[in-house]
Amino acid sequence: MKVPLVDLKVQYKSIKSEVDLAISHVLENTAFVGGHEVKKFEENFANYTDSKYCVSCANGTDALQIALKSLGIGDGDEVIVPANSFIATSESVTAIGGEVVFADVNPLTYNMNPVDLELKITSKTKVVIAVHLYGMPAPMDEIMSIAKKHNLYVIEDAAQAHGAKYKDKSIGSIGDIATFSFYPGKNLGAYGDGGGITTNNFELAQFCDKYANHGRTSKYNHEFEGINSRLDGIQAAVLNVKLNHIEKWTEMRVANADYYKQRLDQKTWLFSEVPGDVRHVYHLFVVRTNNRDQVLSALQENGVSAGIHYPIALPLLDAYKYQNHQPEDFPVSSKLMSEIISLPMYPELSSTAMDFVMDQLESISKEHNPKV
Ligand SMILES: *Cc1c(COP(=O)(O)O)cnc(C)c1O
Repeated sequence: MKVPLVDLKVQYKSIKSEVDLAISHVLENTAFVGGHEVKKFEENFANYTDSKYCVSCANGTDALQIALKSLGIGDGDEVIVPANSFIATSESVTAIGGEVVFADVNPLTYNMNPVDLELKITSKTKVVIAVHLYGMPAPMDEIMSIAKKHNLYVIEDAAQAHGAKYKDKSIGSIGDIATFSFYPGKNLGAYGDGGGITTNNFELAQFCDKYANHGRTSKYNHEFEGINSRLDGIQAAVLNVKLNHIEKWTEMRVANADYYKQRLDQKTWLFSEVPGDVRHVYHLFVVRTNNRDQVLSALQENGVSAGIHYPIALPLLDAYKYQNHQPEDFPVSSKLMSEIISLPMYPELSSTAMDFVMDQLESISKEHNPKV
């Protein structure tokens, strides 16, 4: 048996007639960039995230840069991001001329540790980017109150957390502004690149809308210089179809995670502690283990495609060598990066496939003693 980390084809097959029809309408109407499907998606996604506004753009990395620009962030401004994330989170800060500062994460939730966040604040700090890593909401109450105390903006990087909830609030509606990726492998994925920004602030939404489209106010009138970062009609059509199914798919992810948790020995395979009042949407199902590298290669030899998200903490990447960080500066992230494994996770994952994954883990654990 072979179990992939994600399977996009099985999902396409389940919605093929709807998607093919929606794409053919875009082709007939030749609305390839922007247009009706894009407008409709922005409305639908604002609704889905309980936000007043959604501005679409070309990808989740651009979404972060556009959001930072909308907050007026630039030369020398410091932006604090978690040490465990995808590089897009930190890259966006440098791209707009800011200085990226890293905060360590919590070993039980993998999300930003508010205590370390507060320690990293200086007089130059302007923004905190809270990443809802793996689909688990970051501790927004703590982050928002620290931000308020120090007069900082909060951006939610929700690239992995479509449909997640923090207490009674939808992810994407809590910070000043939030960013999403619709990369094919994300929980809500297009069939190419795509991104979105949500906010309840009219001025920010208006800025993002113009900035992502050359600062345009009409075809050849430009209020300021912007960039070209727009969503394709075809991608919007796919996303509109998929948005009708996302709740069902999210419930399937949650059920799969519960299935894993019931069978996995929590003492051997540490998994995150999910507070009772959040909805984790399981973009990834991550366990921690000793002998990670042996466990991972044993899984791969037996047909299970597990992954690591991420094998090198952001501050320790070559890209940030100039900041001269040592692993001891980020003790939790440095430990996690050698212990974490992402098990196969997607809505359509069968119980047979999950049983197979867990049978492999059990036999590996006899051999390698992976207890953390
Ligand atoms: C995927 C991802 C992004 C970037 O999204 P793209 O659409 O690939 O540019 C940003 N942040 C996080 C946490 C991500 O997982």
